[in-house]
Amino acid sequence: MGFNSRIEWTTHTFNPWWGCTKVSRGCKFCYAEALSKRYGHDVWGARKPRRLLSDNHWREPLKWEAEARRERLRFQVFCASMADVFEEKAPAGQLDRLWDLIRQTPNLDWQLLTKRPHRIADSLPEDWGSGYQNVWLGTSVEDRRVIDRISLLVKVPAKVHFLSLEPLLGPLPDLPLKGINWVIVGGESGAGARPIYPDWVRSIRNQCLKAEVAFFFKQWGGFNKKKAGRELEGRTWDEMPVKRISVS
Ligand code: SF4
Repeated sequence: MGFNSRIEWTTHTFNPWWGCTKVSRGCKFCYAEALSKRYGHDVWGARKPRRLLSDNHWREPLKWEAEARRERLRFQVFCASMADVFEEKAPAGQLDRLWDLIRQTPNLDWQLLTKRPHRIADSLPEDWGSGYQNVWLGTSVEDRRVIDRISLLVKVPAKVHFLSLEPLLGPLPDLPLKGINWVIVGGESGAGARPIYPDWVRSIRNQCLKAEVAFFFKQWGGFNKKKAGRELEGRTWDEMPVKRISVS
């Protein structure tokens, strides 16, 4: 069984295109932008083109689907790590192509994560109804300034609503968790990483416990994220909104 993602809370990642425009503090050290530049792709900013991907790349999830079906498993697919699927500059036709792919892969749980939840409703396919059974919708919230993203997210019907509080850049003592099924928390990593404090993480964990929301602590981050690890109060927190297979 092959997983193509090293991200702790998923098994695979898929990118419909590369490129994006920064929207808030959480974007400051965007990993995807740095990686794109390293590969020589100038695809960041509203005026820059996006990088389109090959037909072979688009066929990969069909292979994961076949494997999931064969093994009677469900895989999780994070979409997108190198873009924001709901951004204004989504290349023509690519979002429709993604919805088609999602319809063809019912054994994959598509984790669509965005910093633009205000754009989700107008980006959905006509047959969305109360939400596709294999799509989880999520939004990123790094601090209180963008907390309104949560109410915009839960307005849209979905099988799973989730929050990615990463990089966590401030305390979030009053998270509106009604309608939220899953919360991921993580600190920023790499050179110049902004700090995360244990009290912030504990507070979020406690709010999730109280509201019976699955809580996943991804990492403390920092300059040496491996050394900093991902334990909180002596244990890891790997809860998911569904029973999952091991990703080790
Ligand atoms: S929205 Fe996401 S992909 Fe886009 S610039 Fe911000 S962090 Fe990077």
